[in-house]
Amino acid sequence: MERRSLALPRLDIAADELSFFRWGRIAGKTLVTNDAGDWLFLNESEFNDLLAGRIVEGHPLFAELQRKGVLRDGLDLDALADRMAQRNRHVGQGPSLHVVTLTARRSADDADGDMSRETAEQVVDLALQSTSPAITFELRGQGGEPVLNFNVLRHLVELARSRNQQAAGKVLSFRLLSNLSAMTEEIAEWLIANDIPVSTTLDGPADVHDWNRKWKGGSAHADVVRWIEYFNRRSLELGRHAAFQPIDALMTTTRRTIEAWQEVIDEYVGRGLHSIHLRPLDQFAFPADTWRTIGYTAHEYLDFYRRALDYILDLNRRGVDLVERVAWIFLSKILTNGDAGALDVQSPNGAGTSQIAYNFDGRVFPSDEARVVDAMGDPIFELGRVGALTIPEILRHPSVRAIAAASLLDAQPMCADCWNKPFCGVSPVYNFATQGDLFAQRPLSFRCKEHMAVSERLFELLANEGDPQTAEILKRWATAVPRLASSAGPPEERP
Ligand code: SF4
Repeated sequence: MERRSLALPRLDIAADELSFFRWGRIAGKTLVTNDAGDWLFLNESEFNDLLAGRIVEGHPLFAELQRKGVLRDGLDLDALADRMAQRNRHVGQGPSLHVVTLTARRSADDADGDMSRETAEQVVDLALQSTSPAITFELRGQGGEPVLNFNVLRHLVELARSRNQQAAGKVLSFRLLSNLSAMTEEIAEWLIANDIPVSTTLDGPADVHDWNRKWKGGSAHADVVRWIEYFNRRSLELGRHAAFQPIDALMTTTRRTIEAWQEVIDEYVGRGLHSIHLRPLDQFAFPADTWRTIGYTAHEYLDFYRRALDYILDLNRRGVDLVERVAWIFLSKILTNGDAGALDVQSPNGAGTSQIAYNFDGRVFPSDEARVVDAMGDPIFELGRVGALTIPEILRHPSVRAIAAASLLDAQPMCADCWNKPFCGVSPVYNFATQGDLFAQRPLSFRCKEHMAVSERLFELLANEGDPQTAEILKRWATAVPRLASSAGPPEERP
């Protein structure tokens, strides 16, 4: 067999002059990033000068590279450590998001699968033990409607508010994930009066939405848009604060969505919604024959995402106020020192340390994604029962520790060298569900491909100095605070 050899140029690297950084090629430039989330673009000769130690005092790039911790000369380690600590502040804050599955029932006349009042009280007690100064209760159903257990929902909200006022003194908020199939005017009025926003699902115009979710009788799409209009109208009539968005929507992306991507986005604009969350379905949550009907490859999804994002940006250039939430999650890390709280874009992942999920039967899980794995038949992530667990016991639980350890990107093959590492994250629970182990193979991960593609597109846009308007839109998105959707999203109706 003929032997072949590859000639590589010997890089001129002055390692003693350089701090630790990663780099990648984007839009014909070299993107340099570091663990504190600092980044900059260099052209080829600038990058070669950096590597060779030729960027010294007096060089036009010296001050910026020094400030961003890329050079050893004048490296301010304390400032670098402060910036890293700021980006990872979720680690020491205490669980702030408490996802409560109030019911597993799908219809009003099926009373099995409801969370009891006593369990809801134990959830409130446990959540308020957290050291986090802000607590959010996300109220949802498992494949069904949380408002089917409305008495317990109301009891949980009222009890949490009263216990918080008496003792805990935290910033308390609630949100409801609902497909609106069991919504009533009485419940809607109570939600608006109590400042509890609703996240529902809107998959696009009627033909797309109704193809995705086939309810018995009537039109699912007509129901959802009627309630979106109702919540918005009543919120205005009742004089709620303009910043209070009583309802927003998430979408389930099926093959049908991808075919009709532009109409889907236009539907969101037409319904007066100000954010859209383009998120792929998790293949592991569907039987193989269903996936053949509704599913797609990573390549098909990412092609859709890119076209959709570019169209949304184009709408923004024409004055439409619509934020794409996955882009927002990454932009908050790229352009600010923030963290949008999306578990699978955190390192370490906050399952059990910043999020706790409660099943309707009182079993506790480190995240709602872990609860979904249980609902699919594997209880591996169960931590114990509410009422028998304390927050310190959850934080020290071997499963929570294993998830944290398996999500440290510095220790992950590929991630450790990836320029996107400071802005990215992994979910060991997702890894387990898709590949059977907490670490999993990065090249086989749909989410790795998604995270890379989203960041890459955003940096391509930021690299284009000739398009300041787009850069301004991205900056606006980065500091916008659309309510973060649930890690798992609202209950998904399987098409
Ligand atoms: S998950 Fe993928 S995109 Fe993210 S840091 Fe790891 S290799 Fe990079």
